[in-house]
Amino acid sequence: MPARPVAFRARANPGAATAAQVAGHARALGVLGWVRVDPDEPARLLVHVEGDTDAVEQLLAFAAAQRTERVAVEGHEQFAVRGVSAGAFVVAEHRATAHHYDLRLELDGVMRSWALPRGPSMDPAIKRLAVQVQDHDPARPDVEGASKIIWDRGSYEQGGRVPWPEALDRGHAVFVLHGDKLRGGFALQRTRARSGAPAQWLMIKRRDDRARPGSDVTAAQPRSVISGRTLG
Ligand code: MN
Repeated sequence: MPARPVAFRARANPGAATAAQVAGHARALGVLGWVRVDPDEPARLLVHVEGDTDAVEQLLAFAAAQRTERVAVEGHEQFAVRGVSAGAFVVAEHRATAHHYDLRLELDGVMRSWALPRGPSMDPAIKRLAVQVQDHDPARPDVEGASKIIWDRGSYEQGGRVPWPEALDRGHAVFVLHGDKLRGGFALQRTRARSGAPAQWLMIKRRDDRARPGSDVTAAQPRSVISGRTLG
């Protein structure tokens, strides 16, 4: 990272370069940030780029950027393509010794897993305990039964300034869920990592247009997304 990086955000026409081409060029130039297809206007790209002034200008020219505005440097540590699925996510409601919800995110061939005693929330003011548990084999997916339902599932995108899995190793990972019930940005923040004890995290809904302040999604939508059953 140069001593005095600059940052710009721009819209671009993917007729000049696709998101993957912009990302490849950014990495070759050594600039950081992200590119994504504009969710509101799929004919455009959104680009956030930060780094050395000359390299930033070269990337903006390569992407044929329009409506460019200078923004604060955010301290990205990668140049990521956003809006692309990183894999599957599952939330299973599980009545075991203690009732909980299992959150699983597919990463590098395993399902990283957390047990949430109170389940996830769509209210950004609520932080839900998520105890890290053993990785799950994606070849042995959660199956519905007397003590388990698939409460939600879908795909997720990796977000944040730090690449995965390093973001998880550092204890702060941002992601976007595309489920039936859970949608939009979330964060997992590790609060305790002690040898011999399971790592404790908090799962927090980010403040975006999918957030539902005051809601209680597990109470309001208790049914399986597969069978329509509840655990009762
Ligand atoms: Mn479980």
